[in-house]
Amino acid sequence: MEKVLVSRCLLGHKVRYDGGAHDSFDGAAIRLLQRWQAEGRIVPLCPEVAGGLPTPRPPAEIPGGQGEQVLDGRRPVLTETGEEVTAAFVVGAEIALQLVRQHGLRVAVLKARSPSCGNLQTYDGSFSGALVAGEGVTAALLRRAGVKVFNENQLAEAAAELQQLEQLDG
Ligand code: SF4
Repeated sequence: MEKVLVSRCLLGHKVRYDGGAHDSFDGAAIRLLQRWQAEGRIVPLCPEVAGGLPTPRPPAEIPGGQGEQVLDGRRPVLTETGEEVTAAFVVGAEIALQLVRQHGLRVAVLKARSPSCGNLQTYDGSFSGALVAGEGVTAALLRRAGVKVFNENQLAEAAAELQQLEQLDG
């Protein structure tokens, strides 16, 4: 069975920076995640908590919004007051990569727009709510490792990818 890495805040775990979880799923999404849970398919991770950050924690953003630049040491991850939390974000991404290798993961469903988990967009570092095309630090590292990264609005695509991989594997 093809397993999938899933952001813990999408599973009801209260690990978000503000102490909450993502709770605005529609019925189809809830049923799909429950089925994956029942199948034992899900490998859960919150990269920021795994990287050593507390919950709740100050919101953080990447100036320019590109997780790849953080991985390459070219940009920090900063809180609104300018505290640098880069190391925790990178450690969290490395733990995600360890899980990928340990479980042979080829698919991840990560929370949209997060500076760790976002796969298509992130906040631009101005703490104004402005979004840019970009990835969080974990999403960037997983993509580099060949993992297909989806977000919670792409669950149907993620399910199709898992099914296709299982069919290819016979
Ligand atoms: S780091 Fe990822 S899993 Fe953790 S709270 Fe943020 S979006 Fe959710």
